[in-house]
Amino acid sequence: MTNIKGKKVLVVGLGRSGEAAGLFLRKKGALVRLTESANNPELKKKKKVLESSGIEVELGRHSEKFIAAVDLVVTSPGIAPETLPLLYASKNKIPVWSELELAYRFCPVPILAVTGTNGKSTAVTLLFDVLKAAGKKVVLAGNIGTPLIEIVSELNGKDAAVLEVSSFQLEWIEKFRPKIAVLLNVSADHLDRYQNFESYIAAKARIFENQGPEDFAVINHDDPLCRKIARKIRARVYYYSRREQAGKFFTDGKTVFLPDGKPLLEFPESRLWGGHNHENMAAVCAAAHLFGIRSSAMAEGIRNFRPLKHRLELVAEKDGVKYIDDSKATNVDSTLRALQAFPEAEKRLILILGGKDKGGSYLPLKSEIKKKVKALILLGEAAGRIATELRGLCLIQRTKNLPECVRSANLLAGAGDIVILSPACSSFDMFKNYGERGDIFKKAVLAALS
Ligand code: ADP
Repeated sequence: MTNIKGKKVLVVGLGRSGEAAGLFLRKKGALVRLTESANNPELKKKKKVLESSGIEVELGRHSEKFIAAVDLVVTSPGIAPETLPLLYASKNKIPVWSELELAYRFCPVPILAVTGTNGKSTAVTLLFDVLKAAGKKVVLAGNIGTPLIEIVSELNGKDAAVLEVSSFQLEWIEKFRPKIAVLLNVSADHLDRYQNFESYIAAKARIFENQGPEDFAVINHDDPLCRKIARKIRARVYYYSRREQAGKFFTDGKTVFLPDGKPLLEFPESRLWGGHNHENMAAVCAAAHLFGIRSSAMAEGIRNFRPLKHRLELVAEKDGVKYIDDSKATNVDSTLRALQAFPEAEKRLILILGGKDKGGSYLPLKSEIKKKVKALILLGEAAGRIATELRGLCLIQRTKNLPECVRSANLLAGAGDIVILSPACSSFDMFKNYGERGDIFKKAVLAALS
């Protein structure tokens, strides 16, 4: 059903992607209703705008009358499947698409999509930069910011769309088929939202679901869960690895090699540090190579890449103490990678951990903390559980807010130490999002040092 003219479509959620999906559908001649469980002055404003375009909007609830009798439901990412409109749709066999699926149906250019638990934004931005450096006309969209549906009407004449794709967006696809799909890693995350780890893995694996032998899958060979997913894929699989060379896009941290063992690219000087970023670079080089991009453009993209905000970002350095904002580390694996990015830091780190608990275990951090962390400063809802799981490894202090974390860290830090916010938890217990958490940390650091 790609002709949606005259069809009755229900959009669930009035976030950025819901709003864009509603307007797109209306323009295509669908009869659109939009339902949103929240209600506030900002949403009321959006409601007025949508109503002036002929879209019916319900705020503050999902009433049965409003959601009934539609031909299609389009859902925003993050809406739980138990939400009334989605339950209703599945009971009544009404198709449900994510905004990504809807956009895919109207996308006139090949899609290069990146998913994984960690590194998506970094890798997808780097891939976009590399394609631009090669002179390609590309757009960057998806989970990283602009929903594809917002720009899909402007893609004629472009060479490709580069998309960051989350597991939530993949939950409701039907035909979504990227030309090149990249899977970076899979580790425990969002266990507060998924019934179990298996359903989260299954959602991630759907990025490959509709690919055929003419498409490419770029997969991290060092991650056993990624290898497991790769066994069921119809696309041509290309692995990348930091551990094994034969037949893979292998990197030793200095060079990326082609699967036949020939060097593809010697990494230029770059601001991307840590082993996890070597993985990200290898994944990007593999995807770019398969898309026919020359290695000089890869070098240019990597050389000029600026690390994204709140990902191992150096905030300040004073009296030999470095302050690092890694607020985007919202799960245990990303914090583990941050600790591993400091190979020499024996008992040199003062680590600020905690936030909204996502239900996974903190024990994978144990050995790195024992080796490298001088003190743990805990914050937020998860503080109690973290203190219990990581007891006895180093000094542990509990605090009430970020400025207090920074004050406590400063009292403990000496020349050569690194104070790092890498919380292993999401931010929603105390902050609007990870960005706000990182900004408040930076402010607190700069205030404490002034
Ligand atoms: P995402 O968009 O998947 O959340 P980001 O690029 O925003 O990924 O990075 C999120 C966090 O994960 C940051 O703390 C970053 O340092 C860390 N990270 C980046 N790449 C990787 C990777 N390949 N493996 C594990 N952690 C990573």
